[in-house]
Amino acid sequence: MADAPRESSQQRLHPHTALVHGEDPYHANAVRASTPPIYLSSTFSSQHATSFGEYNYSRSANPTRDALEAKLAALDAAQSAISQDSQQASRLAYVRSLACASGVTALNTLLTVLAPGDEVLCSQDVYGGTFRLFSDAWQQRGIIVTYVDATNAEAVQQAWSQKTKLLHIEPVGNPLMSVCDIALLATIAHERGGLLSVDNTSLTSLHCKPLVLGADIAIQSATKYLCGHGDVTSGVVSLRDEQLAKRFAFHHNAEGSALAPFDCYMLHRGMESLAPRMYWQERTAQNLAKRLQTIPGITRVRHPSLLTARDARVHSAQSSGHGAVISFETGNEERSKHIVEALKLFAIRVSFGSVTSSASMPIFMSHRAIPAALASLRPPTDLIRLSIGLEHEEDLWKDIEQACAKG
Ligand SMILES: *Cc1c(COP(=O)(O)O)cnc(C)c1O
Repeated sequence: MADAPRESSQQRLHPHTALVHGEDPYHANAVRASTPPIYLSSTFSSQHATSFGEYNYSRSANPTRDALEAKLAALDAAQSAISQDSQQASRLAYVRSLACASGVTALNTLLTVLAPGDEVLCSQDVYGGTFRLFSDAWQQRGIIVTYVDATNAEAVQQAWSQKTKLLHIEPVGNPLMSVCDIALLATIAHERGGLLSVDNTSLTSLHCKPLVLGADIAIQSATKYLCGHGDVTSGVVSLRDEQLAKRFAFHHNAEGSALAPFDCYMLHRGMESLAPRMYWQERTAQNLAKRLQTIPGITRVRHPSLLTARDARVHSAQSSGHGAVISFETGNEERSKHIVEALKLFAIRVSFGSVTSSASMPIFMSHRAIPAALASLRPPTDLIRLSIGLEHEEDLWKDIEQACAKG
């Protein structure tokens, strides 16, 4: 075929280019279509009665999913913009990505490396649904879950027990923006014979490369920035060890966790504009975060661009960008409620990373599932979280100003 994939030249492409070019994985694209065909077929026939062809059943493998997974793996393996110098040295030889039905499904694949009686150490500042999955669903099945302040390497070392198999973190917690050092925590986990998994949803594999930094497992909810348009629930798990990847792939098939073909196409399409969306949204977020600090009564504005000291150093060494989620406090739950309800351009809804802006009070929505024993870790009741979309900064600012004046 004239346009056969050129693996070696593909490897040299900058991530921004790779996002729109991909590696022509559209097997037998006989009509030279410029967008990937969607193979909705659940089965593929075989020429022989005693063996399968390349594809046989879409739960196991599907060409549209293969195309997406190749793109996801290329992005997780590619060197990030922060250290071009070491581009050659640190590129990963092997990365495999598995597209999953949701971000939570991707998190649930971590059970591949855990058995009843094993312990997972989990950062305290993680997504609310991670608490629900680990503390409610997994603990019922005999997994021990211990929460730890993973911004503190000593606390992690002290918490590590004979039973610990896995450390799970987010590089920048959301909405509180606590920063975990991926490379340092990978070393700590590996010295103790454990694995490190990183939920990279808020920075994405465009900005942060957990596998390049030493993590074993990188997870994203693709529902957020990767898809970017709020119309596909999806997740991804990426691995850099071939044996481990085979175990995950086995379970992905055995448990039926894969993303459906049409959704694979939608996510593939959304990812083509990931870089310009991300840069635009986070630039607006950074400007709005600064401007929010000037509004009387608004306190503790949080955005990764406002980090200081150790947090700023660790963050800038492991991420080439900040994401577009801002949070702030108002000193009063009622005032926060009035502000959120007075916003016109920001819809009140959970989730983030879409092209339209949204607002929420995490304690009542995304972080409701924090276990009672960890009540001290709940976000403040007056905390407002904004996800900044593609609207013009001045329109968003005027909206925030009028809402705060009413609130
Ligand atoms: C949303 C989210 C998830 C869960 O993803 P779903 O696609 O909603 O299942 C996991 N981790 C983080 C950090 C998230 O923001």
